[in-house]
Amino acid sequence: ELPDEFFQEQAELKDYLLINKIGEGAFSRVFRGIPQKNSSKAYLTRNFTECAIKVIQKDQSSGATIKKDEQTKKSTREQVMKEVQIHKLITCGEGAQNIVQFVDFQESENYYYIVQELLRGGEIFGEIVKYTYFSEDLSRHVIKQLALAVKHMHSMGVVHRDIKPENLLFEPIKHIPSKKPVLRRSDDPATKLDEGEFRPNVGGGGIGVVKLADFGLSKQIYQTDTKTPCGTVGYTAPEVVKDEKYSMGVDMWGIGCVLYTILCGFPPFYDEKIDVLTEKISRGEYTFLRPWWDEISDGAKNCVRKLLEVNPDKRYRIDDLLNDEWLNTYDAVRQREA
Ligand code: ADP
Ligand code: MG
Repeated sequence: ELPDEFFQEQAELKDYLLINKIGEGAFSRVFRGIPQKNSSKAYLTRNFTECAIKVIQKDQSSGATIKKDEQTKKSTREQVMKEVQIHKLITCGEGAQNIVQFVDFQESENYYYIVQELLRGGEIFGEIVKYTYFSEDLSRHVIKQLALAVKHMHSMGVVHRDIKPENLLFEPIKHIPSKKPVLRRSDDPATKLDEGEFRPNVGGGGIGVVKLADFGLSKQIYQTDTKTPCGTVGYTAPEVVKDEKYSMGVDMWGIGCVLYTILCGFPPFYDEKIDVLTEKISRGEYTFLRPWWDEISDGAKNCVRKLLEVNPDKRYRIDDLLNDEWLNTYDAVRQREA
């Protein structure tokens, strides 16, 4: 059964039909939607038969869990506008193929609606839950695409700041004929393919195109044309300049956490007590825990190490990652699928 709220969300929305809920975040509900082809907005959706619609409730509505005061209301609006502005910006240009495409934005009495391209596979997070961990080939396939998304954002002066498996979405590979059973590790010689044989990218089924989503925490740190920090012209303090330089590294750390997690099935840093966890992170205290990491290659471990480097000056930058030896290892399975 659908909550009353659903009908309200539909009632206030123009040009799109809401079909079913496909996800949610702390302040949002995301629906699969169908654009109404006879609407004035149809030109925006000519390439889409379906889309994803992120609905953010305004603070003051009845029964809302979010705070009610004027201050919060204003800042929520500003946050949503910033998310939309950045999402629009990075949807454009060459190299945006691994960014979930922005389509449309609406504001109604009680909601904000961010209409986006739909990714039918859902979250990479769900695949980790389903398959525990990914083969090195599949991990490389995912991280390469994530790296291209981050490359695009960083080259436009934007940092994502919330890179995690929940915000990584994918399009499933359709229709893969496979005679052999799906096994976890494609690197295992016992599961090698016969010439010309296709198989899902082992240990995660058919993950095709991977795209980065959720720009709710994203920040534009400089304008691409001037390379100067946003909103200032030469009066920026050194610590601000430094902060902005280091903020790119936040995404690289995030990629490191994702890579670690998909390779072994659990995150690099964990503790039930938040202060203990914070301490572990600040010291960069993680291990390649046995036996889970025993059969993972040195190349993959090296890549993780370079990303989970506590010193931001030594940490991989996006171009270092794109040139990483392990990331560029030839993948026969993938090549054949392409
Ligand atoms: P929040 O900012 O609240 O975290 P997100 O933008 O991350 O909101 O969306 C929440 C969830 O909705 C995602 O983790 C994902 O499961 C789903 N989702 C969001 N956008 C899409 C999309 N374009 N295609 C498919 N699922 C999506
Ligand atoms: Mg999210």
